[in-house]
Amino acid sequence: MRAVVVDNTGTGVEIVEHDKPVVQYGEALVKVEYCGVCHTDLHVAHGDFGKVPGRILGHEGIGIVEELGEGVTSLKVGDRVSIAWLFEGCGHCEYCTTGRETLCRSVKNAGYTVDGGMSDYAVVTADYAVKVPDGLDPAQASSITCAGVTTYKAIKEAGAAPGQWIVVFGAGGLGNLAVQYAKKVFNAHVVAVDINDDKLALAKKVGADIVINGKTSSDVSKEIQDKTGGCHGAVVTAVSKVAFNQAIDSVRAGGTVVAVGLPSEYMELSIVKTVLDGIRVVGSLVGTRKDLEEAFAFGAEGLVVPVVEKSPSRYSSFCI
Ligand SMILES: [Zn+2]
Ligand SMILES: [Zn+2]
Repeated sequence: MRAVVVDNTGTGVEIVEHDKPVVQYGEALVKVEYCGVCHTDLHVAHGDFGKVPGRILGHEGIGIVEELGEGVTSLKVGDRVSIAWLFEGCGHCEYCTTGRETLCRSVKNAGYTVDGGMSDYAVVTADYAVKVPDGLDPAQASSITCAGVTTYKAIKEAGAAPGQWIVVFGAGGLGNLAVQYAKKVFNAHVVAVDINDDKLALAKKVGADIVINGKTSSDVSKEIQDKTGGCHGAVVTAVSKVAFNQAIDSVRAGGTVVAVGLPSEYMELSIVKTVLDGIRVVGSLVGTRKDLEEAFAFGAEGLVVPVVEKSPSRYSSFCI
């Protein structure tokens, strides 16, 4: 089979002919339909998290179960399933047993610590593969497998509730989905901030009530405070320290700032504001199997529609 792997230098990618994987106990063989490209794939390919030459990339995979290993009871042949970043947790640590399996210290990640979905066939741990509901387009499902569940979970962490204000910093692939989940699933009012007018126009189209260009606004946080009275929650998908700092100043007392983007910097946090205003700052990493199941369901209902572009190579769908 063909596979997209990290090359021998551990800093690039190549397409190779690869042995078809063999299912072991508890696993399922999946014929891959789509696999999205995520920025994290680029980090893995460049060796930013440590070099993994030969590793098959991809954690936004969707495919059809073709074969089951012994002991599998959660899937059947023909099911459409995910190949996600949360490939497998240990199942027994304090995180796995308390609904926080993405924090498992022994977690396996598709396309990084184990082979992922950018190949004709992939093997998944059956109990960790989430079924894609009927009615959800598999290319859109591939985007929800990472970008969708990540933003859905982040909006949850922000404590979004009907009628409240949520600000989303960064209106790209992740941010656009965050706007949709906040508006259409949680019924919140939404502000989108970006430095690109095209992305802001798209954010507006999918439900943002207010859009702000961070380049042309004289003071992003003040503008948000003036227009909303301060947001109840902020979700930062932008890979920018500036956005993180603006987020802190954009929330009202009791507000929550959820960090999703990964700039390699430190954010500035006013201790006085944090204490006196009771601000919570939390990190949020992808989502659990349950989060993904929910995120898929909202996609299948048509509430959230990822913008995907299918590449002619048939290897990938791209989130824009
Ligand atoms: Zn990803
Ligand atoms: Zn664990």
